[in-house]
Amino acid sequence: MLGLMMDMPLLVSSLLRHAAANHAEVEIVSRTVEGPVHRYTYADAHRRAQRMANALTALGVQPGDRIGTIAWNGYRHYEVWFGTSGMGAVCHTMNPRLHPDQIAYLLNHAEDRYVFVDLTFLPLIEQAAPRAPALQGVVVMTDRAHMPDTTLANAICYEELLDGQGDAFEWPVFDENTASSLCYTSGTTGHPKGVLYSHRATLLHSYAIAMPSMMCLSDRESVLPVVPMFHANAWGIPYAATMTGAKQVMPGPLLDGKSLWEMLDGEKVTFSAGVPTIWHGLLAYMRENGKRLDSMQRMVIGGSAAPRSMIEALDREFGIEARHGWGMTEMSPVGAINTLKPWMLDLPEAEQPDILAKQGRPPFGVEMMIEGDDGTPQPHDGVAQGELKVRGPWVCRAYFKNEGAEAHRDGWFGTGDVATVDADGYMQIVDRKKDMIKSGGEWISSIDLEDLAMRHPDIAQAAVIGIAHPKWDERPLLLVTAAPGRNPQRNEVLQFLESKVAKWWVPDEMIVVDSFPIGGTGKILKTDLRETYRDFRFP
Ligand code: AMP
Repeated sequence: MLGLMMDMPLLVSSLLRHAAANHAEVEIVSRTVEGPVHRYTYADAHRRAQRMANALTALGVQPGDRIGTIAWNGYRHYEVWFGTSGMGAVCHTMNPRLHPDQIAYLLNHAEDRYVFVDLTFLPLIEQAAPRAPALQGVVVMTDRAHMPDTTLANAICYEELLDGQGDAFEWPVFDENTASSLCYTSGTTGHPKGVLYSHRATLLHSYAIAMPSMMCLSDRESVLPVVPMFHANAWGIPYAATMTGAKQVMPGPLLDGKSLWEMLDGEKVTFSAGVPTIWHGLLAYMRENGKRLDSMQRMVIGGSAAPRSMIEALDREFGIEARHGWGMTEMSPVGAINTLKPWMLDLPEAEQPDILAKQGRPPFGVEMMIEGDDGTPQPHDGVAQGELKVRGPWVCRAYFKNEGAEAHRDGWFGTGDVATVDADGYMQIVDRKKDMIKSGGEWISSIDLEDLAMRHPDIAQAAVIGIAHPKWDERPLLLVTAAPGRNPQRNEVLQFLESKVAKWWVPDEMIVVDSFPIGGTGKILKTDLRETYRDFRFP
């Protein structure tokens, strides 16, 4: 017997329509590429997203067509998201830190018909667009006064495109399994693979991440996603914030500690999310300048392992709850976020960080399995480790155009991460499979070593890579940057590590570097480091 509930599809357009109807006056505040801070409301955003849908229709865009974006977090990017997905087309966000060759590859692979770009990225698209024959036009996301000279044959001014359009657009109703957006994985090996999100997955993911033990979003919050809208849809935050009517703050191009602090403080932001490298910059700025963030309640740190020292510093020095999170582009992207269970709040203060340093527990909707080398499920005892496999309604079941099919088997998606899950359900990433160091037939976790090294007061950031070794196969090399005003010493740091890990885990050498190569999504590029130190030999 079927239930007698209405069969209304879950569509992205309904998020913004709801916000405009119920949170009309709530602000969306953006730092623009042109300079000034722009403010408007959900009611304004809804009107302009409808104009966008009208404009796309006038350009001849059809449902299912891909529309590219190369843009910062900002209100125009937000309008393109909702206008595109709302009318049934697919919003394809691209990472602007990619090489023009890679952008050309993505434009062609996705078969984008139009691409929307921020002023910053005009030189990039000028190089890539001529190599994408199916591309019909490039919309420069600015007004007439700021429209630059360009070599592009078919450049359109964003505000002019919207100007001629009406404010009303009847959002079409269609199957909720229709594709809404497309985001490519970072593709450190081989070509990037496309993850094609659906309206249904996007809405279910929004409900899930808004829950109290996830990001705890509501209309009482002021939310600033530092994570870019091109990195797995800013972890779904612009959708979930719209669903709940939260105030949204978009940082635009300025992501250094000072600029971020000004936006976070000025807009009384209560919740933010980003990768550890971003929070390193913010923490350094606040410490050096005696600043605090009195409104800030929670921050999610994810994308790569949050150092325990950072989680502790946010809590103890600044009174901010740091929630470690884990996810993947393939998972919309949130797979786990860490909060303590009620009984854990009574644990001695010294024991809590051990739990908080783990990547966290999955929300309802994500199931996890640890698969041993022999292919069997491993116990959730916090010890047994293996490849983390996941499934759920917002986990991708295949890549766009069916590439990389080997990751999907028996209804599970293989994450390529090695992890443990403990009896309380807390998942901990041991390492990415390809970053683990094999020494004398045993595995060493680079993440563990980095975390421990970053507890040393002289060290700001750390990265550990495996170096070929004639006897042991591979041995760990520790690369570090110095904390402000400090001068880390090899012997002293290695001794510090020796007191914390098994002797054979201690890196054979430490090198102090000025900075690390950082990838498009703000993570340290281990592939580049391995390349740089390919010929390195231990003394
Ligand atoms: P991306 O799709 O670019 O977001 O990358 C996903 C990958 O980032 C995961 O498979 C992990 O290897 C890594 N990752 C994400 N969050 C964390 C975390 N909290 N700790 C360790 N690794 C993480």
